[in-house]
Amino acid sequence: GHKVVLITGCSSGIGLRIAVTLARDEKKRYHVIATMRDLKKKDKLVEAAGDVFGKTLTLLPLDVCSDESVQTCINSVKDRHIDILINNAGVGLLGPLESISIEDMKRVFETNFFGVVRMIKEVMPDMKKRRSGHIVVMSSVMGLQGVVFNDVYTASKFAMEGFCESMAVQLMKFNVRVSMIEPGPVHTEFETKMMDDVAKMEYPGADADTVRYFKDVYLPSSIDIFEAMGQTPEDVAKCTKKVIESSSPRFRNLTNSLYTPIVALKYADETGGLSVNTFYNLLFNFGPLMHITMSILKCLTCSCLRRRTISPN
Ligand code: NAD
Repeated sequence: GHKVVLITGCSSGIGLRIAVTLARDEKKRYHVIATMRDLKKKDKLVEAAGDVFGKTLTLLPLDVCSDESVQTCINSVKDRHIDILINNAGVGLLGPLESISIEDMKRVFETNFFGVVRMIKEVMPDMKKRRSGHIVVMSSVMGLQGVVFNDVYTASKFAMEGFCESMAVQLMKFNVRVSMIEPGPVHTEFETKMMDDVAKMEYPGADADTVRYFKDVYLPSSIDIFEAMGQTPEDVAKCTKKVIESSSPRFRNLTNSLYTPIVALKYADETGGLSVNTFYNLLFNFGPLMHITMSILKCLTCSCLRRRTISPN
């Protein structure tokens, strides 16, 4: 029969697209429980699901930051039986560290790190008992490599990677798989929400040079990178479907072959020098020529690096 898939953060972006892609599977292999904090935001998902809504796709409310919400949600699933848990909910945080309150940083960890821990803690015991299950986590290339002005967001994704890499060993003994999905830039509300936040920011506490590097150097380069390399949520959904349908799912899964050479810098030089220096040069020396740099990087993507990456097709 059906595999029961529960996904967090389905009102928009990647989560919405994974929910629809799985629910519309031609062979009808999945029953998707699409969850979101606020069911009032269900319209986009319901519309995208079309005629499978109420059949292979149902909705439940779930806030990954609330113990009670998570327990109530999982208890309302028949026999608490979830075959595949997809932890997608996440929030971004961008800007000079001086301007960000510790409270805001904790909120990011509360969602991106503890939100996933809370879900896994609730769902894992049943998977262990059944000796089957697959836990998928929407990480990011920023779970593998630091990115300037994304300091705290990156840290929250690194935390996830470390947590899951540790859990994966124990869970393998119970025949439960763990997979990280590591997209590069993806065109979603995530990007727009962050840009809106940034426009509203007044950068209290940050000196003029730092604010200038952030607004006039980092932001335009970041927009260039999104334009040159951005994937669609559909691409990430297709990659995720491939990972869950694999007979031996890998732990780490990059989705964006254009971005892979940048991640490869880290593994090419374990001292970290190559990675840090290249980011420095990209930002401060080639900044105005970012689009040209991006084209060169694309050409440099060799076949051996592409093999590390899941392709959506
Ligand atoms: P998005 O903002 O469209 O989606 C995030 C979803 O999570 C939203 O629907 C939001 O309502 C939900 N959410 C936030 N807090 C929640 C909570 N406490 N409980 C339940 N749901 C909550 O952005 P997206 O790009 O689709 O992001 C999905 C995931 O992909 C995130 O984990 C993000 O870190 C990751 N990611 C995004 C990109 C990108 O460039 N967009 C790149 C790599 C990884």
